[in-house]
Amino acid sequence: MSRTPKQVGLLVDVTRCTGCNRCVEACAEANRLGQPDVTLQQSPDGLSARRWASIVESPAGGFVRKFCRHCLEPACVSVCPVGAMYRTPEGVVLYDSRKCMGCRYCMMACPFGIPRYEWESSAPLVRKCTLCYDRLKDGGLPACVEACPEGVLAFGERSELLALARRRLQEAAPLYLPKIYGEHEIGGAAVMYISHVPLDFLGYHGEPGEEPMPELTWDWLAKVPAVALGVAGLMTGLLWIIGRRIQAEASRQARLPARPIEEQK
Ligand code: SF4
Ligand code: SF4
Ligand code: SF4
Repeated sequence: MSRTPKQVGLLVDVTRCTGCNRCVEACAEANRLGQPDVTLQQSPDGLSARRWASIVESPAGGFVRKFCRHCLEPACVSVCPVGAMYRTPEGVVLYDSRKCMGCRYCMMACPFGIPRYEWESSAPLVRKCTLCYDRLKDGGLPACVEACPEGVLAFGERSELLALARRRLQEAAPLYLPKIYGEHEIGGAAVMYISHVPLDFLGYHGEPGEEPMPELTWDWLAKVPAVALGVAGLMTGLLWIIGRRIQAEASRQARLPARPIEEQK
């Protein structure tokens, strides 16, 4: 009999973050991202193909970690015409570079502006947080969770993180806004936040409502003429890029061993 995989999650407690940036550095090191490829002028939120997480200052004060939410119903997955963006059974949203044809619909569709492109590369790929899936499969924790000295980040089963978040909101009520960001918005997300400041500023148009983005995204994309006209051309004209990528990325596609995901203490 098959077991349903546990749905993993990551809880960010914004009240604890000092903005030290160690989680960002740990992410870059663990994922061998090298030096940042853009300046803060080019990317005011600090995200880029070589920075999958950043610390941004909220307009109301406080440091907030910005990275992929690993949505339960991801818009990036729903718009990808070739299935390059996909969601694992554990709830991690990943990217298969061998399938990508470079249309960048995922970048347009993401309500938080997360995926970034390797603009400088001759065979560019889309890049974003992987929730350190390789490490999880080896029984480890995401590098950022391990690196944070303030206990801002907790990794584990999503249901248990929700319980932890509710407990903190109850026990220290005056400290927090009475909301778990990511519990319900756009259908829910693996990455959730509790906070003393509003986090609406992280979304393109404020914090999205609760309706899953896949139900909204194609309606929106279909109204963009360039998108509508481009679909057919991209599907046929860019196939050669896939071939190039298969060669360029062959060495990066090590398969993952299957091991249970353990929750952080
Ligand atoms: S935050 Fe954006 S990139 Fe991440 S899973 Fe959701 S839609 Fe996809
Ligand atoms: S989970 Fe991994 S890939 Fe994602 S921000 Fe943390 S360290 Fe980076
Ligand atoms: S390591 Fe922890 S305290 Fe430092 S910036 Fe990251 S989340 Fe904030």
